[in-house]
Amino acid sequence: MGQPHHIVIIGAGIVGCSTAYFLVQNELLQEETTVTLVEGTEVAAGASGYAGGFLAKGAEWHRPETVDLSQVSFDLHRELAERYAGETKWGYRAIETYVSVHSSPAHLQNIDINLSLPKVQSPTHWLPHTSRVVPKGDMSSTAQCMPMFLTKHLCAETLRHPNAALVIGRAMAVTEKNGAITGVVVRREANGVTEAVTLPCDCLVLAAGPWLGKLATQLLGPEVGRSLDVSGSQAHSIVIKPKEDLTAHAVFAKIEMGGLPDENEPEVYCRPDGTIYMCGTAGPDPLPATADKIPVSHEALKKLHSEARALTPILWSENGAQVVMEQACYLPRPARGRPLVGKVKGIQGVWVGGGHDVWGIVQGPGTGKVISEMILGLETSADVTGLAP
Ligand SMILES: Cc1cc2nc3c(=O)[nH]c(=O)nc-3n(C[C@H](O)[C@H](O)[C@H](O)COP(=O)(O)OP(=O)(O)OC[C@H]3O[C@@H](n4cnc5c(N)ncnc54)[C@H](O)[C@@H]3O)c2cc1C
Repeated sequence: MGQPHHIVIIGAGIVGCSTAYFLVQNELLQEETTVTLVEGTEVAAGASGYAGGFLAKGAEWHRPETVDLSQVSFDLHRELAERYAGETKWGYRAIETYVSVHSSPAHLQNIDINLSLPKVQSPTHWLPHTSRVVPKGDMSSTAQCMPMFLTKHLCAETLRHPNAALVIGRAMAVTEKNGAITGVVVRREANGVTEAVTLPCDCLVLAAGPWLGKLATQLLGPEVGRSLDVSGSQAHSIVIKPKEDLTAHAVFAKIEMGGLPDENEPEVYCRPDGTIYMCGTAGPDPLPATADKIPVSHEALKKLHSEARALTPILWSENGAQVVMEQACYLPRPARGRPLVGKVKGIQGVWVGGGHDVWGIVQGPGTGKVISEMILGLETSADVTGLAP
């Protein structure tokens, strides 16, 4: 079979935008082939706009089936940053990463965080002395980015291609002929009126993040929906700007002080814009129908603020720290426990990239590249055989 003529990608998160970007960048894409991103809300409206942006490679971070994809994708992050000045455009930089345990001084004597690496003095001025710190990643294996800016950049680069388009609207159904997909029905608003348009399509990519399972069921039926079962798990984050200058560090903290209840393990990322991003608190709310209706749990935010307070005085408001953002988004949780990357079985011309859970930002560019290569009939840059749907 030859190349498709009309490629439609549903979902403009990091996976969808990366897929579109690597398709239009590939010189083997035929001149007349169209690439259309369909996004229900806005570019990076889901987790790709609100994630921490921590990037890591290696078997100590990733499950065996995704180690190769993560390595390739980690390197792509660096290449993209070098090509487009990502350091200034989306805050890309290599960082050092630590695990730290925060406890009362007496309690700290008895804690063994059970890692074979040597314990070190706090490497940063902003982590207090009542912490025990263990190196977890160096500048060759850990990095960071600001995912919303990266995702939007990939979309903008895609749209420079003459045959690429972004349609803001919700994919509702597909049209078929003789078992092959011929179109995607999109509901969109135009001049205050809701209308349904059918986009021509002979190659469909599902990249709908936590909405993937629902979308697959709606478009392709319950059997396919079950095989692509990805749902959403709510997670909160806060962004605080302290008065002090920060260092290039990510810290996986375990806080056991300040009268906090159990299970306080926030991830803490210093960002190059002088803010600290903290996440790690789950929430009770089920996945909403669309990304513009994401609720926040005030309890979950309160817990994150208590953890920030226990972590370091530089995050206290009385020391001049300002809360910049309080937000929630949904992790794309795959029912089978590992991402889905590849061709959907039993239907002609349907591909999927989703279910990356907590690693979608690091694995997003690699996933997009691999799907673009599969669509164009090329050998893939990463071994994703263990991720076939
Ligand atoms: C708090 C938090 C912190 C995180 N931190 C990190 C991190 O530090 N590092 C890391 O690697 N990963 C991190 N992740 C995970 C990462 O954010 C996700 O795995 C990744 O963003 C998923 O990208 P995606 O493109 O698959 O989905 P999404 O970003 O969710 O995008 C899916 C898009 O599909 C659209 N859509 C859905 N249905 C339709 C439809 N019917 N029609 C049209 N459009 C539709 C949505 O509007 C949405 O824009 C974090 C996640 C959370 C929640």
